[in-house]
Amino acid sequence: MPRTASLTSTHLRHPSRRRPSPRPHPGARLGRVIVVRTVPAIRAAVADARASDAAPVGLVPTMGALHAGHRALLGAARAECQTVVMSLFVNPAQFGEAADLGAYPRDEAADLAAAAAAGVDVVFAPPPDAMYPAGFQTWVDVERLGTTHEGAHRPGHFRGVATVVLKLFNIVAPDVAYFGQKDAQQVEVIRTMLRDLDLPIRLRVLPTVRDRDGLALSSRNARLSPDERQQALALPRALATRDPVEARRILETAGLQPDYVEVLDFDPPVLAAAVRVGRTRLIDNVVLESSSTEGSPTSERPTAEARPT
Ligand code: AMP
Repeated sequence: MPRTASLTSTHLRHPSRRRPSPRPHPGARLGRVIVVRTVPAIRAAVADARASDAAPVGLVPTMGALHAGHRALLGAARAECQTVVMSLFVNPAQFGEAADLGAYPRDEAADLAAAAAAGVDVVFAPPPDAMYPAGFQTWVDVERLGTTHEGAHRPGHFRGVATVVLKLFNIVAPDVAYFGQKDAQQVEVIRTMLRDLDLPIRLRVLPTVRDRDGLALSSRNARLSPDERQQALALPRALATRDPVEARRILETAGLQPDYVEVLDFDPPVLAAAVRVGRTRLIDNVVLESSSTEGSPTSERPTAEARPT
């Protein structure tokens, strides 16, 4: 376990920009990473960073079980921000079935080590009651978008996502927030929420990271048996056609009945699909139009897909 320590902004990176911290705040350190578990502690850590001119502040929200997709987001945040905050919170509000929440992979020690290796400054890892105290009853609903496609198959999912992301935005107050194109509808929900609620946060969307065989990395892939994984490869193969009719044919030929396989008019448009392989539900998408800023390191939209490093 990381030990408890008094923390100051001098634990943050970029020595040339450091100033003495005005006040210590409770937390724990793992190598150079500060681990905090309460809302006042993460607020104090970010306030100290800002007092030290260690801005912009980047936030990478995660539910842990970190893989190369998460590491790509953390790498971009590290390259672009003076202070990198990673949240580590398996959000109960976005899970429909208790069994799904219970089965979600958790390994905090490994996640903290991965965060440290990625150069994260602060990990915010609250217990559920720090995010949802007794009597919690205020929700964010991105109404229409939140009930189509993924939202239609997972009622309440995007309400849980939008609510926890807005809470994280309010708590951390980042300048930039990093999300993966892998969850295209989630990105669209957050983009809509940012616009509708006038939130002054820049959204950075990073391309989907895939395994060498083409399967998009996901914490849920660990649940696939070797046979199921072979079957799951029909998903990226189908989407690579960029044709919904052909994609459906490929999925059905592989014995996969898609919940949907459709072109979605998002920014950018995608061909997206969801399938169930055994007990595991997988989602994936491919971008249909390349962005005008393709290749630019400051692109706000995803560009080419990436292989894990
Ligand atoms: P999660 O921990 O599943 O909530 O994901 C945290 C962030 O990582 C989200 O913004 C996801 O879209 C992103 N992400 C998950 N898988 C991938 C992937 N294969 N490539 C890129 N980003 C991903």
